[in-house]
Amino acid sequence: MERSSFWEATSAAPEYPALKEDTAFDAVVVGAGFTGITAALLLAESGAKVAVVEADRIGSGTSGRSTVKVTCQHTLKLHTLGDEKARAYYAANKSGFDFVCGLVERNGIGCDFERLPAYVYARGDECLPDIEKEAEFYSKLGIDGGVTEKTGLPFGVKCALVMRDQAQFHPLKYLYALARRFTACGGSIFERTKAQRFERGADCAVITKNATLRSRDVIFATNYPMTDFPGLFFLKLHQEREYAICAKADGLDIGGMYISAQKPANSMRMYRSGDENRLILVGYGHRTAKEDDDFSGYDRLKELLRRDFKTADPDPDYAWSAQDCRTLDGIPYVGPVYAEPPGVYVAAGYEKWGVTNSAAAAMMISDAIAGTGHIDRHIRKAFDPLRFTPAASAKNFLIHTGNVAGAFTAGNILIPEGSYGDIKPGEGAVMRVGAKAQAVYRDTDGKIHAFEAHCTHMRCPLEYNAAEKSFDCPCHGSRFGTDGEVLNGPANEPLCRITERPER
Ligand SMILES: Cc1cc2nc3c(=O)[nH]c(=O)nc-3n(C[C@H](O)[C@H](O)[C@H](O)COP(=O)(O)OP(=O)(O)OC[C@H]3O[C@@H](n4cnc5c(N)ncnc54)[C@H](O)[C@@H]3O)c2cc1C
Repeated sequence: MERSSFWEATSAAPEYPALKEDTAFDAVVVGAGFTGITAALLLAESGAKVAVVEADRIGSGTSGRSTVKVTCQHTLKLHTLGDEKARAYYAANKSGFDFVCGLVERNGIGCDFERLPAYVYARGDECLPDIEKEAEFYSKLGIDGGVTEKTGLPFGVKCALVMRDQAQFHPLKYLYALARRFTACGGSIFERTKAQRFERGADCAVITKNATLRSRDVIFATNYPMTDFPGLFFLKLHQEREYAICAKADGLDIGGMYISAQKPANSMRMYRSGDENRLILVGYGHRTAKEDDDFSGYDRLKELLRRDFKTADPDPDYAWSAQDCRTLDGIPYVGPVYAEPPGVYVAAGYEKWGVTNSAAAAMMISDAIAGTGHIDRHIRKAFDPLRFTPAASAKNFLIHTGNVAGAFTAGNILIPEGSYGDIKPGEGAVMRVGAKAQAVYRDTDGKIHAFEAHCTHMRCPLEYNAAEKSFDCPCHGSRFGTDGEVLNGPANEPLCRITERPER
């Protein structure tokens, strides 16, 4: 089973240059996923001179590793938000949904787009009350859908909640098409250009290795905002990782997109293009660096594939993973983090429902910067990134800060003593070598790579993730490769390499 994203393997990435010289723009967007590319396109269409800087390649973050259901059915979220917030959340996402579908259908964007119903299903009784409560919100909000016992799944369900006329597509084909539209409007994209630092003065400066970009507005579309202040995101966001597999499934048609009501949720969809007919299973999410045991999400998904989808190929040929941020109250943080110009904007916390949320976020940011009027002001208020909503957030705030404090303290105390000799080729560990906590990996040639074992974001002790061969931070979800480089933020600096060798 290849550890790579099916989406990357089935699309041809356009190439954009790295940034080489200082330039001024009206707006700079950091990050080229769904949020960044959509916001950049909307601003460029409104007449602004816009640049996008991307640390890696377009779509190389979570957007290119998603299940890519284009839907306003976000499992069973609406009833948990209460009337007013559910209304605002649904309205924003419906605008995002209409925007994405409209763009694809009006312009004939070739991204394997299909209209399909979305379902949340329950196999047992325990989730039925929540399904009923969510169905009441469908009635209140005029959503086309309701409770049903009929699904296209090859196994029986107790009941399901359907939302009709939703969609799915290929994320990278969509993103590449948007990027081309953006550059056709005069926009600039710089790939392999990491924003290393950011300064806010009379204007904004985004500093990269080779050059600095200046602009009136900066949009952090980096999934986890690059700047924790003044939004205090380190207190309000955590990340969850999830796994995906893709298998050939000739002749199988499940007639929609599905997610289980039970947790951890399992999500499923088909992908059809030409002769290709495939099943994609996604699930077994957990807080980053908090996997229960060594039986990885991939193994569990394979088990699910073999048990429940007997006509699909039992040996998936693609497997990948990704992570997304969660907020304290279930609504993303979107908008300006300063009241006065120069403007700094963030968009984060889509809780694995980022296709419609990112389009809504891009519209809200474009409204705030260019007065484009896509989304009502009172709806934008519900997404205010500076909000703290004690009633809705207190419990999750305590859980999050408790987790961070626990990980920080226990991680530091419990790092085991070890020696490089304990590490076999292709394996890694976090251990105390002499007086120092070290993140250690031995490559397949036997060479040791050792780093300080603390996250460069807020100095939390790291954990080794054997399934993905990475060093992960249990506090805020940063991840580092076995070469010490950042795989996922909020950390922006690589791990500090240790070159002394006390022993072998
Ligand atoms: C397993 C999984 C399945 C999902 N399935 C669905 C689904 O079916 N439907 C749905 O609606 N949503 C889904 N989501 C959620 C959705 O994919 C995300 O919310 C969305 O892709 C986030 O987009 P983004 O642009 O904000 O972030 P990203 O796509 O992560 O983009 C951020 C970009 O910023 C870049 N970057 C970071 N730091 C810097 C820096 N310092 N300088 C320059 N660039 C930087 C990164 O390289 C990256 O390309 C899923 C998420 C996961 C994890």
